[in-house]
Amino acid sequence: MKQIDLPAQKEILWHRLREDLTSLMPWFEDNDLLLCPACCRQIGFDQFSVEHIVPKQALATDPKAVRDAISQNDRSGLTLLCSKPLVIKGKTIKGSGCNSWKGRHFDPSLRDLIRADFLKTRLNTRHQVSLYVAGYLGLFRQFGYQVALSRAGLVSRQQFFHPNNFLKDVPNDCQMILTGERKTEFMNDEKNYWSDPFKITIEGTTGLIAFRNMVFRVPISRDPTQPLAKLLPYVPSRFAFRPDTTTVFD
Ligand SMILES: [Zn+2]
Repeated sequence: MKQIDLPAQKEILWHRLREDLTSLMPWFEDNDLLLCPACCRQIGFDQFSVEHIVPKQALATDPKAVRDAISQNDRSGLTLLCSKPLVIKGKTIKGSGCNSWKGRHFDPSLRDLIRADFLKTRLNTRHQVSLYVAGYLGLFRQFGYQVALSRAGLVSRQQFFHPNNFLKDVPNDCQMILTGERKTEFMNDEKNYWSDPFKITIEGTTGLIAFRNMVFRVPISRDPTQPLAKLLPYVPSRFAFRPDTTTVFD
């Protein structure tokens, strides 16, 4: 099953994220912008594009029975990333913003991971950072801006721009991957293994993420399944949210 109708997906994601963002930062109702979940710049609809979190090139190696049964979008997980050129330390980076950055720095490693036989494959730090970044985008896809604009979200957004090494603010337990045996056949009762790519459980200060035969953690600042108090002026801190919109670079 190939993918169907990305322009409509973009509209759907845009409106869902706008609703989420304005619920946390009501002053965004006065503009027609979103914050990119990686660089955090304020950007309009035309400079966003649909991002396949698990890259299409990685999914192309799934068994035919899987490709026939589950759409590419369902195996990938979609979100929006900006396509506006990045300017880092005064230098314009070639390509289309965070979308190209992810494609260049992380997608090849994600493709390696999805095909890997972990008894034989040696993982490098780039593989680990790539999985971490995919997990962060999976958290953002599920829980929205309360993840991206938290203190831990800022760490993940900074990590996005450091593909070669983990930053010291990333907790040690978020720098490892547990692996199991990769499935190579499609069974009807294991459909869930292939679809819905990121199964997330919140455990204290991390999101525990299962992605196919890999399990890893990404830090979070608060449990995003707990309700947020948006109207009361004074609330216990775990129900309050103060967005951190620090951009990763100027
Ligand atoms: Zn961006």
